[in-house]
Amino acid sequence: MTKKIDMIVVGAGASGLMCAGTAVENGRKVLVLEKNRVAGKKLAITGKGRCNVTNNCDRDEFFFNIVRNPRFLYSSYSSFTPQDTMSFFESRGVPLKTERGNRVFPVSDKASDIVRALENYCGSENIIQKEVEDLIAEDGGVRGVLCKDGTRYFSKKVVLCTGGLSYPATGSTGKGLEIASKYGHTVITPEPSLVPLETKEVFPLQGLALKNVTVTIIKKSGKSPPRSEPGEMMFTHFGVSGPLILSASSFCESGDSISIDLKPGLDEKTLDRRICGDFAKNINKNFKNSLKDLLPLKLIPVIIEKSGISAEKKVCLITKEERLFFVRLIKNFTFEVKRKRPLSEAIITSGGVSVDEINPKTMESRILKGLYFAGEIIDVDAYTGGFNLQIAFMTGRAVGKV
Ligand SMILES: Cc1cc2nc3c(=O)[nH]c(=O)nc-3n(C[C@H](O)[C@H](O)[C@H](O)COP(=O)(O)OP(=O)(O)OC[C@H]3O[C@@H](n4cnc5c(N)ncnc54)[C@H](O)[C@@H]3O)c2cc1C
Repeated sequence: MTKKIDMIVVGAGASGLMCAGTAVENGRKVLVLEKNRVAGKKLAITGKGRCNVTNNCDRDEFFFNIVRNPRFLYSSYSSFTPQDTMSFFESRGVPLKTERGNRVFPVSDKASDIVRALENYCGSENIIQKEVEDLIAEDGGVRGVLCKDGTRYFSKKVVLCTGGLSYPATGSTGKGLEIASKYGHTVITPEPSLVPLETKEVFPLQGLALKNVTVTIIKKSGKSPPRSEPGEMMFTHFGVSGPLILSASSFCESGDSISIDLKPGLDEKTLDRRICGDFAKNINKNFKNSLKDLLPLKLIPVIIEKSGISAEKKVCLITKEERLFFVRLIKNFTFEVKRKRPLSEAIITSGGVSVDEINPKTMESRILKGLYFAGEIIDVDAYTGGFNLQIAFMTGRAVGKV
């Protein structure tokens, strides 16, 4: 079968759907090839099924949250800001709400509403279930694609929107990166980012969520200063996860230390006074029975063990030295990172096609004419908060306009 089309978009994820829809809106004949039976499989599970679709922040804050290659995004950001993303969805029948940290969600709390709006935008009749195997290229330019079943589609513009390598069950298995590399592009080694961390010491705290804590990452190299952020985290059967940990994973590696301040609202002196008060109330009790107002129940035996004070010791016998050590422990509950969980469990793949080989205005390859990239396949990534989808939308938008 042979077909001529203005633009072939490979991958019907966040970036592919936005790219295709924009091109259709501009009067182009577009074909979207998606290997899954349904479009937007990853998009449908984003934000725990609620889809944190963008972040309602200003320019400075947006770029503060881009971990790798923010400059590459300056142009596409100017053409499609987070506020443009919001207007885009609201004008297509998806009312939005802004939550803590400027995170934007559909009012319905349904990621499927976002998928549906994008599918309607690009026209579901333009999406075909096909797995792309290779490009067709000649004379330094792209001519079309070859599908796994042998079908060829011809177009002088092909956009790779195949995502990274995380959550491969959603379709992002790295095929686009393999194709980009085959045609001479540098692929920065894909690494897991926004991923839970395994810790050397695994505490029996599985499922414990800590809501108001500060997490500090102390680099083993000592080269960069410790980085702290307040927020939420949780313990798992292998180590730690939750929003603070996922963000920290972007700059964290094996051997670094995680230090949790369990009482960030109190400085050491105030915390000591608070503990003295608790001790006074429980003066004849065992140490382990004096901490119920201070710490979550599950955490008490773990912290007691770390403190070196016997759980059975009478509170009245605890020395000042022991108490001050305990105060410091609560402000600095520290353990070591063993490794990141694998790429398959990462929210985001860092690495991808080198930005040096992509025109930041059009997203066209500087190596193969007519080949474009959008979304996570590019070596850009961000922290949690809706920034990664915003990157997918604005890079997709940039290509759709060419
Ligand atoms: C669990 C989870 C939750 C997340 N939550 C959020 C969130 O709330 N907010 C946020 O900003 N970001 C979130 N992200 C990140 C966000 O989902 C991604 O950054 C975004 O989906 C990337 O879009 P993309 O279009 O580049 O790739 P994808 O959405 O991965 O789409 C790629 C598409 O290409 C298709 N494809 C791949 N290879 C081929 C091929 N050879 N032929 C044909 N089709 C192919 C795939 O099947 C897939 O449909 C989350 C990620 C995960 C895993």
